[in-house]
Amino acid sequence: MMAEHKPSTPQSPGNGSPAAPPLRERPYELPPLPPNRCYEELPDPESIGETEVVFVEQTDPFEEYSFRLQRIVHQGKTPFQDVLIADTLNHGRALVLDGAMQSAEDDEEIYHEMLVQPAMLRHPDPRDVIIIGGGEGATLRETLAHRSVRTATMVDLDEEVVDLCREHLKPWHCGAFDDHRARLVYADGREFIENDDRLYDVAIIDVVDMLDNGPAQKLYTRQFYEHLRRRLRPNGLVVVQALEFSFVDDKPHVALSRTLRSVFPEVYSYRVHVPSFLGAWGYLIASDWFRPHETSGADIDRAIQMKLGGDWLSHLTGDFAKSCFTHCRETSFLLAQPGPILEDGVDFIPPPYIDDVDQIVELPSLPDR
Ligand code: SAM
Repeated sequence: MMAEHKPSTPQSPGNGSPAAPPLRERPYELPPLPPNRCYEELPDPESIGETEVVFVEQTDPFEEYSFRLQRIVHQGKTPFQDVLIADTLNHGRALVLDGAMQSAEDDEEIYHEMLVQPAMLRHPDPRDVIIIGGGEGATLRETLAHRSVRTATMVDLDEEVVDLCREHLKPWHCGAFDDHRARLVYADGREFIENDDRLYDVAIIDVVDMLDNGPAQKLYTRQFYEHLRRRLRPNGLVVVQALEFSFVDDKPHVALSRTLRSVFPEVYSYRVHVPSFLGAWGYLIASDWFRPHETSGADIDRAIQMKLGGDWLSHLTGDFAKSCFTHCRETSFLLAQPGPILEDGVDFIPPPYIDDVDQIVELPSLPDR
């Protein structure tokens, strides 16, 4: 079965979540919306009252962020990680592993489109794709949207997480797990790549963050990417979900970029804002040949029309995708800094932050108009 099309914005949260409140009366008429859009009212914060439950994200030692929850759908522990699936009030249903947000209903499309599509649209003929991680099935959904794909092998460590996502996160996978081209493997991604002898056109790494000694630590090192490179066909592309990439936390992304550059000649960072991730999110695309600045927005739009048609994508357009590869002066400076790379068996101790030396900056003297 082909992956069904992503559903349009629902009137109420999906998956049997409580229905959205009816629309309040307003002293003006709401303008009509295009056919696939509808209005949705946020719950009245006061009506939620004292019984609120929160999930606190503590990925940053200096900040905590509380997500108010409407309902806990599942809470438990697998042999590999703690799992929480809950309906948040601001972001819809969310998957949280080991206390870290993995994706949320309201913005998972932008995260997954931007993870998968820049590589899939650019590759001339992606036939065999490997996804490492990607438990929700949305990375698989975006991959299988390409008719050129013959096999999409998804290797996730945790069968229990995948089963929970299959049951509770249907708007993410849209049936992609049942597509005859999907091949599901429950194994450690690093071991799989070291022992596999197949070749792939596109490799997508969508594993949990590089938490200290977490289950995905060995999927971020130079040694891993060296193995992975041997599994790529000519024209192969690798894309990696590459951690928070903001001025609050850029060190792991920049070190990962250097790590990929130690293995591949062409490596580019791009980023997008994902509200439920509380910051700008980074991705890295690596290969022997792909230089994003050599592809125009119009080229990407043509590839979208040819490969996916006009209705599949919710966010990505040619010009938008291109803009995500354009960085401000400070970010370009940080990406160009030499520094440590990620190696097997070596703890990552981030280098110190680089600050400006305080000085009174004089206004630029410009020629008289
Ligand atoms: N978007 C996410 C993020 O921002 O971190 C990644 C989402 S996806 C749910 C992460 C998946 O990585 C999980 O399903 C987890 O089981 C899987 N995973 C963790 N370590 C792994 C490993 N060593 N090999 C394969 N999959 C792994």
